Amino acid sequence: QVRVRFAPSPTGDLHVGGARTALFNWLFARQHGGAFILRIEDTDQARLVGQSIAGIIESLRWLGLYWDEGPDVGGPYGPYVQSQRLHLYREHAQRLVLAGHAYYCFCTPERLERVRQGQRARGEPPGYDRHCRNLPPAEVEERLARGEPAVIRFKMPLEGETTIVDLLRGEITYENRLLQDLVLLKSDGFPTYHLANVVDDHYMRISHILRAEEWIPSAPLHYQLYRAFGWEMPVLCHLPLILSPDGKGKLSKRHGATGVLEFKRQGYLPEAMINYLALLGWAYDAEQEIFSREELLEKFRLEEVNPHPARFNFEKLLWMNQYYINHILSLDDLARRCVPLLQEAGLVPPEAGDPSTPAYAYVREVVALVKDRLKLLTEVVDLTRFFFTEVEDYDPELLLARKVEPATVLHALERVIETLREADFSDEGDLERRLRGLAEELGLKTGQLFMPIRVAVTGRMVSPGLFETLRVLGRERSLARLAAARE
Ligand code: GLU
Repeated sequence: QVRVRFAPSPTGDLHVGGARTALFNWLFARQHGGAFILRIEDTDQARLVGQSIAGIIESLRWLGLYWDEGPDVGGPYGPYVQSQRLHLYREHAQRLVLAGHAYYCFCTPERLERVRQGQRARGEPPGYDRHCRNLPPAEVEERLARGEPAVIRFKMPLEGETTIVDLLRGEITYENRLLQDLVLLKSDGFPTYHLANVVDDHYMRISHILRAEEWIPSAPLHYQLYRAFGWEMPVLCHLPLILSPDGKGKLSKRHGATGVLEFKRQGYLPEAMINYLALLGWAYDAEQEIFSREELLEKFRLEEVNPHPARFNFEKLLWMNQYYINHILSLDDLARRCVPLLQEAGLVPPEAGDPSTPAYAYVREVVALVKDRLKLLTEVVDLTRFFFTEVEDYDPELLLARKVEPATVLHALERVIETLREADFSDEGDLERRLRGLAEELGLKTGQLFMPIRVAVTGRMVSPGLFETLRVLGRERSLARLAAARE
């Protein structure tokens, strides 16, 4: 059975790279009728950031990547938070010591620093010099009994090679003499990532490890750990790095938003995020770019992921978001997602959340007018504000923008009010005919007449189409604003 896990360390927000890893795990699990597990790797106490577990969980839920086993939902192989499994790691570190695969190391930080300095001076690669690897057992006993602080290190084979197999890259071979005796258990009794990760993947019966490329160098140690425990190693698949838009380095905050919740706040849709993330390392063919979740489940192939780094393209993501808003979401779906944003801005009442109310029906009509121009959900607030609030101050400059004499504009607005009193506001065609007729009658170009009307009813020079705007605002509001603008 396929069992995969997403194993974030709660050291901050869920980054788009982490989200991509979660997505590929989720797709792979769902495609194979397997289980998708969420495990929190919180053993590096110094790097923990409060609240990040909540943020990670919120991010995954927002993206719709639900897990079958995890800290909140439980499961048969829990607990799913590493800090609640410490006894297991200690026990297994000791087991390795007893079997001769690991050893206690009493080296102080000062000594390790001196070793490093010496290596630097001699131009040697940094690393532990295996000073404690062969201490006599009696001495180890005695020092432990005295309570001297100690870590447990893995005894890497000194000769031969370790070959790992990566699903996307094939075999990668390391010379053992170049590998380190890494720490498995720290002196505070907390495991390192390596030990906890291997023990948990084994006991949680993980079949495939899908994780970021940066972990490849850890894989030979993990391989040797599995061997030492006598366990079978899961299939390994390292996902490609995500680079900045210019391809010059890893994607980071300097390039723009990187946290999933930041994208959410900016007005991105989870559907567009998922679609875009799927294409970071994977493609179906040279053409298709828009994939619904169902299509991804049908077409995604883990084996087809390109192991070369992928560039993060913010413009592409924005384009995709706009595409989803303009062409994929239904009007109701979009309107429902806009309601909370409009509520937050104080523009619509709470009952607009209920689709059976007139308040919602009005939001829906308004959203219909801007649907084709929205790139980000959040833009709806500024684009539609004037539909929900009165236009407060009229800027005379705007009213006179078309270089028409003030007196002419005032007179024209007067006539517009008269004309529109008679108009049928439910019929855009009627509004248009009447206003065009009026322009002709007054000897004005349509722009010279329409701009002051637009400014009068919206307070700005750019708005959705004039006639549809008038229709949605309705007779009363439109006429009141025209009258107010004339003042
Ligand atoms: N906790 C590691 C991380 O945050 C997980 C790596 C793995 O999946 O093995 O990247």
